[in-house]
Formats: sequence, structure tokens, C-alpha cells
Amino acid sequence: MYISDLKHFLDERGAIGPVKGPALAMAQFQADVVAHASHITGQAPAAPTCFKCKKDTVAANLARDEAIVWSCPSCSAEGRISNWQGSLWDLRTRPDRR
Ligand SMILES: [Zn+2]
Repeated sequence: MYISDLKHFLDERGAIGPVKGPALAMAQFQADVVAHASHITGQAPAAPTCFKCKKDTVAANLARDEAIVWSCPSCSAEGRISNWQGSLWDLRTRPDRR
């Protein structure tokens, strides 16, 4: 189980912090999971491909405590993401245009 805090992957402006390598891939994956799971109206962004096996898209849902829980049907990787609220990928209340 991968337990993560989205803020740990972001820089002080709220953008993805790591610029290359596995850290960037992990950060991008987490951000995509958050966007997919937090989008509640209209067309949700596509679920991201599992960062581990890269074979399947993960399933992601909001847990009761508002963490985002994701799991991969192919390799059984799973994780929990906290502290995603208010990030650039929090799509719960975002209007279509500002
Ligand atoms: Zn997988």
C-alpha cells in the first residue's frame, strides 16, 4: 500500500515538484489519480495507467475520510493519497472557466 501526501510532491507554487525520473512519474501519477477521483460533474479526466505495472488503468475513489484510494486490477498495487484538497488537481468545485 502506497501512502502518500500529495503536498510532498508539489513545489511552493503548487506545481509538480520533481522534474525528472521516477519521482516525476510518481508525482504525475498521483496528480492524475486526484484529478480523476475528485471530478464529480461532467466528463472526468481518464483514469491514469498504473505507475507500477503500466498494464492497466487504476480505479480511484474518494474514501469516507476524504483520502483518495486507488487500486490496480492487474498488479494489485494500491494506495491512499491525502492532502490533495485545494491542489491544482482538486476538481470538485472548479468552474469550467474562471
Ligand atoms: Zn498495476
